[in-house]
Amino acid sequence: MTRNFLLILITIILIGTISFINASSHSSKFYFAKKNYVTAVLHDNRKKEIKYLKDLVKYGNILNKDIRKYKKELYRLDKNIVFIEKKKLKNIQFKKNYKKNKKQTSKFNIKSIDIKNNSIIINFTNKISIKTLKYFETQKKNKFSDVFDIVGRFKDASPIKLKMSGVDRIKISQYRYNTLRISVINNYNLKTFYIINRKQIIIKVSTKKKYKKTKVVKKINYNKKSKQIKISKLSSFENSMKTIVIDAGHGGKDSGAVGPRRQYEKTVVLGVAKNLYRNLKSKGFKVYLTRSRDKYVSLRYRTRLANKKNADIFISIHANAARKARASKAKGIETYFLSPARSKRAKRVAALENKGDMNSMSYSSKNILLTLLNRSKITSSQKMAIDIQSHMLHSLKKYYGSKIIDGGVREGPFWVLVGAQMPSVLIEVGYISHPKESRRIYTKKYQKRVSTGIANGITSYFAKNR
Ligand SMILES: [Zn+2]
Repeated sequence: MTRNFLLILITIILIGTISFINASSHSSKFYFAKKNYVTAVLHDNRKKEIKYLKDLVKYGNILNKDIRKYKKELYRLDKNIVFIEKKKLKNIQFKKNYKKNKKQTSKFNIKSIDIKNNSIIINFTNKISIKTLKYFETQKKNKFSDVFDIVGRFKDASPIKLKMSGVDRIKISQYRYNTLRISVINNYNLKTFYIINRKQIIIKVSTKKKYKKTKVVKKINYNKKSKQIKISKLSSFENSMKTIVIDAGHGGKDSGAVGPRRQYEKTVVLGVAKNLYRNLKSKGFKVYLTRSRDKYVSLRYRTRLANKKNADIFISIHANAARKARASKAKGIETYFLSPARSKRAKRVAALENKGDMNSMSYSSKNILLTLLNRSKITSSQKMAIDIQSHMLHSLKKYYGSKIIDGGVREGPFWVLVGAQMPSVLIEVGYISHPKESRRIYTKKYQKRVSTGIANGITSYFAKNR
């Protein structure tokens, strides 16, 4: 009796697990297709658009999502398409998936392990999450170990020993089928910390002794200065792991908005972008500009660069403009993040900034793109927008006081931000249509001050969201 019961229980658990794995792989495939579909639309690749729309229909169907819009768009692109019944699809999908899952786990997803400047650098072939790494310490007599268990497989793991000055031993082994273990072993307790960064884990080892809290507190306070220097060095090290793409709006034949004294938006934003570039570089970040001179750059190219460089954030710089009737009134700085929201104001600003070259895209694919926006990306973009806006205001009010108007953090459908696969914002550094503000934002001083604020906002965002 009990044996039978146990068997039934095990069967239930097994079925539950299998269907869970299956469901999670379906949804990951669905989101994979979403991402690739967006890229395909932005790159005008019709073949891939159809391919990923088919996937969206297939997996969306299994996951019981509303797939009507994908079907409609698919039909628009390919009139010969025939949709298969839901039940049939489910069975076929299950078999295929089962095979694929097995294949995936046997892949070696750890590309390389190196030691550089007291850091162990582990490179992956895929994007990784915080859950990829588990850390714990052990001690046996005078042997202190910092152990890092990493989800993944490494071809050359058995058994390698890496050398690092000031550390007794570093051991790397394929501890379990899908767990790589890195142990940093020493005769006293070492300070280690790690950074997880997209396709990379960096374990930094400080060979300075870890003190026990009780007796040495005084000593640490006494040494406040040296401690502070250490922190700033550390953060510059962490900054070097972040990549930022700065996008100076418009350029070349597209001058953007034009001020009352024929001031060009493209000139203002290039000045701000270049200042921001220098500022962030000096903080240790990896920085790229979409343009560094007066040159026309397509909207697609801008985000494509950010995706290619695997950027952590994308910052697009613009200057605002109001209709003639409101030109003497409208002023202030605003930070936008991308979202499907369409308030009247967002619509107007977006219409201004969207002129670029996205006209070739069909209305329906534009609409699908907006509904595909990744929720977590929107949230982080909003957080970054808040940090940037408040630091910009802080930096500018020091010099210009109440002349600086806070236009707030806003959301809107900006095409230049759609293609970016990372948190991204669009900053309006002021109104070029306003008689006084246009004069102010045209000065080198203002451009430098506003960029200082943006840079501080970025640093603060990274500090809170590692
Ligand atoms: Zn603009």
